[in-house]
Amino acid sequence: MPGGTDQTLRPFLWRAERMYPDTEIVSRTHEGVERYTYEEYGDRTAQLAGAMDATGVPEGERVATFCWNHHRHFETYFAIPTTGRQLHTINPLLPDEHIQYIVQNADDRIIFLDPSLAEKLSGAYDEAAFEAVEQFVVMGSEVPDVRFDAVDYESFIDGHDTSYDWPTVDEETPAGMCYTSGTTGKPKGVEYTQKMLWSHTMATMGPQGLDISDDDVVMPVVPMFHVNAWGMPFTSTAAGAKHVYPGPSPDPADIAGLIEDEEVTVTAGVPTVWLGLQEYIQAGNDVDLSSLESVIIGGSAAPRAMIEWFDDRGVTVDHAWGMTEMSPIGSVSRLKSGLAEDLSYEEQVDKRAKQGLMVPGVEFKVIDDDGEEVPWNGEDFGELHIRGPWITTEYFKRPEANEEDFEESEGGRWLKTGDVVTVDEDGYIKIVDRAKDVIKSGGEWISSVELENAIMAHDDVTEAAVVGVPHERWQERPVAFVVPAEGTDPGELEAEVTEMLGEEYPKWWLPDDLVQIDEVPKTATGKFSKKDLREEYADEALLEGQVPEEAAPDDD
Ligand code: ADP
Repeated sequence: MPGGTDQTLRPFLWRAERMYPDTEIVSRTHEGVERYTYEEYGDRTAQLAGAMDATGVPEGERVATFCWNHHRHFETYFAIPTTGRQLHTINPLLPDEHIQYIVQNADDRIIFLDPSLAEKLSGAYDEAAFEAVEQFVVMGSEVPDVRFDAVDYESFIDGHDTSYDWPTVDEETPAGMCYTSGTTGKPKGVEYTQKMLWSHTMATMGPQGLDISDDDVVMPVVPMFHVNAWGMPFTSTAAGAKHVYPGPSPDPADIAGLIEDEEVTVTAGVPTVWLGLQEYIQAGNDVDLSSLESVIIGGSAAPRAMIEWFDDRGVTVDHAWGMTEMSPIGSVSRLKSGLAEDLSYEEQVDKRAKQGLMVPGVEFKVIDDDGEEVPWNGEDFGELHIRGPWITTEYFKRPEANEEDFEESEGGRWLKTGDVVTVDEDGYIKIVDRAKDVIKSGGEWISSVELENAIMAHDDVTEAAVVGVPHERWQERPVAFVVPAEGTDPGELEAEVTEMLGEEYPKWWLPDDLVQIDEVPKTATGKFSKKDLREEYADEALLEGQVPEEAAPDDD
């Protein structure tokens, strides 16, 4: 075989265990802050591999996690794929119906779940949807009251050998999996092969990516159920860095405490998280950020003011863009060498607030409405198409989505991102719009189409359109525009619709406002025109000053 071995995760684990046995992994858990070394990590990961073998679930099967960021979750990150199984991280914030669909669609055979999420999973549990699941394992040393049989993690791995003969796994073997929200219909599964995770790790470890090395202390605040915490547990291991995991639902005080106590150098998360930290510090809490070198901000656009705020404290914001389909990192916004001398500080921040430069390995093109590639002039815009070794070329069991979201052309298959961008002369992409009809609130998707359908199911509603409105804390929030049936009491309708949605969806999905209108404006082809809707209602107190022109999706 050319090259000797396949491109898999196993050598990363091997290297960290052997070369950095004393480097620490620190974790805030349900039981307090725990710490151990890569050496112990290796032992426990081997035990977990043995425990999974003992369940009889063979390699090639999917094993799910329903967990926050902590060391036990990290143990599954290597034990599952390195035994040839597939790590499927489930987002516990999703509506129950989505969780049922995902578990059934993926045929998960084992589920690892957090004690603090046990109630959520127990609520979503459905015998038919969870039929393939043979084993539930609770991440701790006790089992809370749940509607399924479960064992606790420490008993599960106890007694298994602390060494394991890791098999040779083919690089094309699926190693990971994550679902992303569809504009319409059910969530779409994205599989990551060993090779995709290997190449993503190698590319993002370097200075043109996330720039992680063995003197770093890395704390991913971005949840491990979000595209493997942007791949950071793998990248940090490959680099031999110290890991810090902030545990279940960390608040700004938890994050600040860990940065100080563990001397974190690199951290990562969506803008909402950092806004929380800013407010915490502005409220008078004294936080020492001196160890921190960089904050990777992605998932939604990093606001300029946030970049400047961190600059003032000697911390560099590395603004990153990516997608679940891309394992997930595509671009990082850093100044190219030489640019710093040519640009004023203002101009530098302009560049860094863009989504940035593709990391080495990724190619892109920007296609306008006429199917032509746009010039790199920072003005012409179009949909971003992308390809690369860690970018998926298909959705799991979803042929119709494959037709829509990928483009076959000479030289390969491109992912159509649904992001509308410009590219400047230096190659920096900037997202100016989104062609997909979804709302991203605090880094999590809300399907506007699903909410519209749910609202229109109410007898007294004839039409409903849900739009994302820019919001300082959450980046976007849903607002519903509703056409009531004749003779409906407006006051009652709002209460009824809100109650109805609350039965089906988590609180954070519920529209912030329900505006009653006479008619939803339509496009020439009869579709809801959300652009016109925004324009028409821009003077409503609610939307006033909050909807910049460029934020309105152009759905004509
Ligand atoms: P993730 O949240 O991990 O980036 P998702 O697949 O959930 O992955 O979301 C991807 C989408 O999020 C992108 O297509 C884009 O619309 C948006 N997004 C991601 N990063 C940024 C960013 N830095 N700026 C603006 N939008 C972003």
